[in-house]
Amino acid sequence: MTDLARIPLNEAARLLRTGAAVPADLLDAVRKRITTLDGTLGCYRWLAPDVAVPDRPPPAAAGPLWGMPGAVKANICRRDWPVDCASRILAGWHAPYDAHAVSQLDAAGALLLGTSAMDEFGMGSSTENAYDLVTRNPWAADRVAGGSSGGGAAAVAAGLAYFALGSDTGGSVRQPAHCCGVVGLKPTYGRVSRSGLVAHASSLDVIGVLARTVADAATVFETIAGHDPADSTSCSDPVAVPNVEIRGTRIGIPRGGWGDVTSAEQQRDLDGALRAMLQAGVEPVEVDLPPLDLALAAYAVIAAAETSANLARYDGTHFGSRHDGPDHGAAARAVRSAGFGLEVKLRVLAGAYVLSDPRGGDLLDRAFAVRDLVCRIFSTALELSDVLLLPTCDGPAFRLGEYADDPVAMRNVDRWTVPVSLAGLPALTVPTGWCVEGLPLSCQLVGRSLDEGRLLAAGSVVEAACGFQLPAEVAT
Ligand code: GLN
Repeated sequence: MTDLARIPLNEAARLLRTGAAVPADLLDAVRKRITTLDGTLGCYRWLAPDVAVPDRPPPAAAGPLWGMPGAVKANICRRDWPVDCASRILAGWHAPYDAHAVSQLDAAGALLLGTSAMDEFGMGSSTENAYDLVTRNPWAADRVAGGSSGGGAAAVAAGLAYFALGSDTGGSVRQPAHCCGVVGLKPTYGRVSRSGLVAHASSLDVIGVLARTVADAATVFETIAGHDPADSTSCSDPVAVPNVEIRGTRIGIPRGGWGDVTSAEQQRDLDGALRAMLQAGVEPVEVDLPPLDLALAAYAVIAAAETSANLARYDGTHFGSRHDGPDHGAAARAVRSAGFGLEVKLRVLAGAYVLSDPRGGDLLDRAFAVRDLVCRIFSTALELSDVLLLPTCDGPAFRLGEYADDPVAMRNVDRWTVPVSLAGLPALTVPTGWCVEGLPLSCQLVGRSLDEGRLLAAGSVVEAACGFQLPAEVAT
């Protein structure tokens, strides 16, 4: 019999509705797996000691998230939880309020279990960059789970949560989804309030969803999206996820194909996804893509500048670790030197450089020009087509430590996801198959701004055609 903790969220919700299960059953099933597996996988940074489990049947108005256990990335605030962003500098800090997305989940009756593992402040692509915890890939113990939302992706894949909230600045929901074989949705920038999301690079940060199926991702997305007066960049446009007719949709394929995609299996899966969509009545259109390498460079400059400004608040006075003494400057330096990890320090320094005139300012101007170019090229591509079909990554999850001494290779992992983030567009990673090494592969669908409905509809077509299944048990 399938483990109750491994079924999709919407199936579990049906069991609750029909009375075949109660929330305590789901919670027990998930907790059992956390107890046996999390010591090896490292999905959770912290587990809430008490989760209020409803003992009544679902109220008539309950939606599918009622009674559903889920995880929240350790950079999304939950009142009184230790939201430390996997950074020593925030060790012991407890969030004073709930993020808007978390309040929405509460209102829907979801059961939040704890904080999921991540790279420090969301900087990284492997979930190896926390000060104290590395997440392993559930399907190969020597591989990364991807990052920076690797804990949530691994938890959802391995049955340690039915869904997880992640954050995506340059790929941090989509890339771990790819590595772990789950669905990852990065909504349009501004679709989900950033209130309560600890800032990394504010013009790029988006709260996203990790789930086992496209329908499950849609369920969580509908719940957390919407306007919030506490975030002036959040938009009030209606969230249209209902059945979008996919027939007649134009699917944009890069002119000349996916060109230098490194793995033949990844190419095979993209061809398969395209075939599935053609069979569903979608029309292919050739489009131009932004230059991926330039986009990566612009991202590095812009994200570093914003990081440097955002992380200036960790000065030993307001948040987390303190260092008292008469010389405030020396205290701040001591706290920051001891509290930030190497990757964060490098970015803060790079950001401080690009924010300083004259050399740095020039770099920043050029990065903004590239960002404009990326936006314009995507905008043309998405006038000619409705959804783009791209890889999420070039190949499967890499080995733990493989890029530890090669930051350029680590950043290159994000070359397909970062350009989409620069343009603020919605994107969906859908698992497509397995490579010979026994690791999942995926495709990335990219939609027009605010057009998550069509994106999810296209994702469902790919999902149905691929028949992707997760293994019966994790590899430990
Ligand atoms: N891997 C990218 C980075 O390190 C993206 C991270 C993210 O999306 N939070 O910046």
